[in-house]
Parts: sequence; C-alpha cells; structure tokens
Amino acid sequence: KPLISIKNISKIYANGTVGLKNVSLNIPAGQFVVIVGLSGAGKSTLLRTINRMHSVTQGDILIDGHSIIHYKNKQLRQLRRSIGMIFQDFNLIKRSTVQRNVLAGRVGYYPTWKSVCNLFSAADKQKAYQALQQVGMGEKLYSRADALSGGQQQRVAIARTLMQDPKIILADEPIASLDPMTTQTVMKDLKQLNRQLNITVVVNLHSVPIAQQFADRIVGLRAGELIYDKLIDQVNSED
Ligand code: ADP
Ligand code: ADP
Repeated sequence: KPLISIKNISKIYANGTVGLKNVSLNIPAGQFVVIVGLSGAGKSTLLRTINRMHSVTQGDILIDGHSIIHYKNKQLRQLRRSIGMIFQDFNLIKRSTVQRNVLAGRVGYYPTWKSVCNLFSAADKQKAYQALQQVGMGEKLYSRADALSGGQQQRVAIARTLMQDPKIILADEPIASLDPMTTQTVMKDLKQLNRQLNITVVVNLHSVPIAQQFADRIVGLRAGELIYDKLIDQVNSED
C-alpha cells in the first residue's frame, strides 16, 4: 500500500489557469522522489496538494490509505503536522534565534505568552537541539537566523520540520537560491533523514543532474501533465 496515492488529480486555479492535468502517482513509504520540470510545469502545485495547502479540482489523494481531499479543521491540522515543508526562501523568522525558529516547528505550536517570553519546556529545547544536530547545526543554537548563510538557513528549516516528527517532507525548490557546495550539503541532509529516519521525501528541482545524484525516482512534469516516471536505475542517458 503506497504512503501517498495521487489519483487522477487536476487543479484549475480560480483564474482558469491549469495547474495540473490528470496526474496519478503512487509513492511508497521511504522513497526519495524528485520532481523535475520547467518553471510553470506544476511542481509546486503538486507538492501543495499533498499537504492540502491547495485543494484539487478533481481526483483524489490518499495518505496512508485515507482520502484527504475532504478534510477539514482538526483532520487538516493533523495532516499538516505530519508533513514537513521546506521552501526556496527558507521562511525563517529572521530576527529570531535558530533555537526559536526550530521550536516554532513544534507540534501544536502556537504563540502563547510563555513562548513569547521564550519559555519552552526542557524537553522541547532538547528536541530542538537534537534536530539541529541531525543537520550539523547544533553549534548555531543561539545565532540569529539572519546571521547564517543560505545553506545554513535551509538546514535550520529542515531541523524545524523534525520537531513535527514528520512522516513526509515536501521540499519546494530547496536549493534554488544556493551555491553548488551548499546544494550538496542540503541535499545530503535530506537524503540522510530519508535513509536514517525513513522519512518519505518529495523534492521539486530544476536540476536534472542533482536529481540523478540523489533521487530513488524521478518524476517529470510538463504543462501540468506527468510525462516521465522512472526509478533511478532505469534512467538512461537519452532521457
Ligand atoms: P512550477 O512549480 O513547476 O514552477 P507551479 O505549480 O508553480 O509550477 O505553476 C503551474 C501553473 O499554475 C503555472 O501556469 C502557474 O502560473 C500557475 N499558478 C500557480 N499558482 C497559481 C495561483 N495561485 N493562481 C493562478 N495560477 C497559478
Ligand atoms: P536551558 O538548558 O537552560 O533551558 P536553553 O534554553 O538554551 O538552555 O536550551 C538549550 C537546550 O539545548 C539544553 O537544554 C540542551 O538540551 C540542549 N543543548 C544545548 N547545547 C548543548 C550541548 N552542547 N550539548 C548537549 N545539549 C545541548
């Protein structure tokens, strides 16, 4: 049984733009999937339907066998908590510390007077530190987010998702603003979490070589349609 089962989904935006056209995709638990395609191909739309940041116009999405398309309120919150998301621009609170940013990923986190005064439990702080260590950022606990390089900020964003104990991490162009060296670090971190913690990872990328280096499976989108889907050992050089 696949962890993520996408069944004939289409997405038409309110202004009539076709985001996705009849896309189907089954992703087993533990797979590292890279979605490639040109800008506007629908990669971001596809990722955002998996955690219901976007609704779909047609079709169904099952996570762990449960259809999520009609989820509301509590179920929707639970779904989003079980899925970590990282973005091209990191989405950190720039003037806060690394520790604070990671703690903001805590399950059920909402700003309370305690968190506003920086009162988190010892267990939460411990967990935040461990999450940072997972991505090699333990020693930056008290740095300000905006004092870090782009690659370091992205690793903090990855650590933040670990506070959710995610089953799935969705990464939307996580390396688009990074240089080649930090690209490697960030992709290796994602791969390591995939392998060590068995987190299913779906990454949107522009770069086919990077996809080939890290993916278990490469999926190609063009103009909202799924036009390519191969396991990495079936990918050949003419593709
Ligand atoms: P990619 O991530 O591959 O660049 P997107 O999923 O962002 O592609 O976009 C797919 C198509 O949907 C594009 O034509 C884009 O312009 C359009 N699109 C994306 N978001 C919206 C939106 N909120 N409203 C209308 N059209 C959108
Ligand atoms: P406090 O322990 O006084 O609450 P913080 O609020 O800064 O201190 O939380 C930091 C937490 O991160 C610690 O409780 C600990 O779990 C962890 N931590 C920080 N630095 C280290 C370290 N060098 N080795 C082990 N754990 C650390």
